[in-house]
Amino acid sequence: MVIGVLALQGAFIEHEKVLKSLGAECFEIRQKKDLERHMDGLVLPGGESTVMGKLMVELDLFENLKEQILNGLPVFGTCAGLILLAQNLSNDTKKYFGTLPVTVKRNAYGRQLGSFSKEEEMKYVGKIPMTFIRAPYIESVRGDVEVLAKVDGNIVAVRYGNQLGISFHPEVTQNSAVHAYFLKMCRQKQNALKTLSGIG
Ligand code: GLN
Repeated sequence: MVIGVLALQGAFIEHEKVLKSLGAECFEIRQKKDLERHMDGLVLPGGESTVMGKLMVELDLFENLKEQILNGLPVFGTCAGLILLAQNLSNDTKKYFGTLPVTVKRNAYGRQLGSFSKEEEMKYVGKIPMTFIRAPYIESVRGDVEVLAKVDGNIVAVRYGNQLGISFHPEVTQNSAVHAYFLKMCRQKQNALKTLSGIG
């Protein structure tokens, strides 16, 4: 399993460590030529969504990545990564990929008091520690978006086909269950593609 990790800014190394510990191969996406490599999945890390959004456009990565996501590439967005995927931001006029039909509120817990941890249940994953760092949450979902977790009544994890969006940071905890779930999504996609090419 080869996973591309957007590595322009933010917590990308932490994701790579977890994914490698689960047996995946990772490479960092920093410039256009990195996109020539095949990937079975894409990670959009936490950090600052405005910075990542701007750099992706400047480095000419944005359209290519958006197209791959729309074509079904499994993508895992955490925190700022979730903001990059969201179709709408309730408290910001910006929009990035806009491939995930949800409305997200940035810095939803306030800027200073926004960091905390809680242990909660996530569907398909189990009970896990959830660490929030100046985190967004999901205010509403549309269409076939499946809610996977809520904390204090707020939606913090969703799945929409090939897209997994969560507002917390599993890569900074000792628990790798969310990453294992994402790798399972990637494996299922890979198997589906193999079946298709077998028929063709
Ligand atoms: N507040 C950040 C943003 O809006 C996200 C914070 C994070 O990724 N930890 O991009």
